[in-house]
Amino acid sequence: MRKNIVAGNWKMNNDLVQTASLLNDLQAKEKTSNAEVMVAPTFTNLYLAYETLKTSSIEVIAQNMHFAESGAYTGEISASMLKSVGIKTVILGHSERREYFNETDESLAKKVDTALAHDLRVIFCFGEVLADRKSDNQEAVVESQISNALFHLNADAFKNIVLAYEPVWAIGTGETASPEQAQDMHAFIRKTLATKYGSDVANSVSILYGGSCKPGNAKEIFSKPDVDGGLIGGAALNADDFFAIVNAF
Ligand code: 13P
Repeated sequence: MRKNIVAGNWKMNNDLVQTASLLNDLQAKEKTSNAEVMVAPTFTNLYLAYETLKTSSIEVIAQNMHFAESGAYTGEISASMLKSVGIKTVILGHSERREYFNETDESLAKKVDTALAHDLRVIFCFGEVLADRKSDNQEAVVESQISNALFHLNADAFKNIVLAYEPVWAIGTGETASPEQAQDMHAFIRKTLATKYGSDVANSVSILYGGSCKPGNAKEIFSKPDVDGGLIGGAALNADDFFAIVNAF
């Protein structure tokens, strides 16, 4: 069923000591909202994070994984490796993966299949770049990103998919999509899902917004009817800021 979710994507930040300190700070925080809370540390700190938070209500999730089961893929991490350290959810398709590591709709479709085959929940990220927004092409771009990577799935698979709309021009820039821009795109995404899979599926999928989401703007963004939470970068690196966003529902 559709849930409110706030997930912190720590990206390539925090060594072991910094991770332990942030985990400690997070454990001291009180959740007053109904949001599911997740944090995604880097791979080397996943096990520590899982062990530290396993009795808390904060889920530890992964930032990426490879589509192959195992083998000669130097530097990569498999679905079963993630599962073996307690991970149940993986972020796939982040724009930084697409931009700097050449991830494509095709490779992401394979990653999604592998993750789902391992019973991992997927937070699937997508979003347009500034040039697309300026040429008013954002809906076509988002529709093709979603359909190319996900529309080979059957309706049942969407029980384990969360969507994250992250306009690339708003990530780490301090420039947030306005609550109206977020709502318009989220409604478009839900309509696209409804056209393909029907309204039951469309209304049951959580759609998160990501891109310069902060304590000061989260409440307004989350108040929009088709926004079910946020994928938080910079503001997730501070427990006070992150929980201010978690509690913005
Ligand atoms: P910022 O919140 O730092 O803009 O990052 C958003 C993001 O990319 C989360 O995945």
